[in-house]
Amino acid sequence: MKYYKRNETRKVNVGGVIIGGGSPITVQSMVNTDKGDWKAAVRQIKELENAGCEIVRISLPDIQTAQDISKIKKRIKIPLVADIHFDYRIAIEAIKQGIDKLRLNPGNIGAKENISAVVEEAKKAHIPIRIGLNAGSLKSIRKINDNFLRAKELVKAAMDNVKIFERHKFYDIVVSLKSSNISITAEAYKIFASKRNYPLHLGITESGSLFSGNIKSAAGLGIMLYDGLGDTIRVSLTANPVEEVKAGYCLLQALGLRNSGIEIISCPTCSRCQVDLINMVCQTEEALSKMKRLKNLSKPIKIAMMGCVVNGPGEAKDADFGIAGTKDGGLLFENGEIIGKVKPKNWVKTILSMISRYQNS
Ligand code: SF4
Repeated sequence: MKYYKRNETRKVNVGGVIIGGGSPITVQSMVNTDKGDWKAAVRQIKELENAGCEIVRISLPDIQTAQDISKIKKRIKIPLVADIHFDYRIAIEAIKQGIDKLRLNPGNIGAKENISAVVEEAKKAHIPIRIGLNAGSLKSIRKINDNFLRAKELVKAAMDNVKIFERHKFYDIVVSLKSSNISITAEAYKIFASKRNYPLHLGITESGSLFSGNIKSAAGLGIMLYDGLGDTIRVSLTANPVEEVKAGYCLLQALGLRNSGIEIISCPTCSRCQVDLINMVCQTEEALSKMKRLKNLSKPIKIAMMGCVVNGPGEAKDADFGIAGTKDGGLLFENGEIIGKVKPKNWVKTILSMISRYQNS
């Protein structure tokens, strides 16, 4: 949206998906299937693809898991990122296997020579690397009590690595500065953005369960995105990774930064509501989540599902179409005009059939 001034960053190509340089903010997630079960990883990545995930990351705890990368890559459509900790040789094997991007955690990858070795191989393979700082694995940060100083320490660690990369004339860099504390994270990204223009991968790490993690991520990422920071996001949840993708789009859509398809405007209900709106909205969302990504939509759709005629007609008129509850059902609106009446049992069916019309138009 025009009212956000996006921070200007370099473009980085991750297996054909562009991060940064004003490209749409991409939504990422991460595989959580059992180590070594590459077939399960492929199955999960396909579910993530269907949910709209644009870049997916996989943890490679050892060389054997890195050797499965080419098998996974052959069977999926979206770019695959290798998450590497402790052993730089796994990164080098992942590059050999055709990985699209690496995420290195400089807090635990060891000597600078190890980082240099990976950077040189990535350069030859033309793949980017995310310098993925995580406050939890940075020893120097634990001694500091002040959040601002902690943020500065995170940035310092990132910059130490950025400089190693730059000494190799390697600029296909993405940076993340994650912490489970919102103010440290937001401050660290802000400081980093004042120093370099590498694209930023945003996240609030270890943010929690589906409910609390979504709220914490929305608060944290919301602050940074509103400030114009961020080129790609991952909403970290202790939940099915598909939920991370849904949450990512929902968050970007709420901020007007991505139009992922369908936005439902629904009221909180009150004693005036004479239909079972809560259930109807849940059923509609459930049905929508099962529809293969609504890719055929020529433009985003705004749908209003409102409990009564107090705010209902206004919201329904403002939407592409919608229903506002009445005592015997609801009034169906499209483009601001009443086009019919709908019985309560037919609300969900009507909304879905209207969506199909837009899909095919
Ligand atoms: S639209 Fe009607 S039912 Fe919904 S919250 Fe407002 S007054 Fe209550």
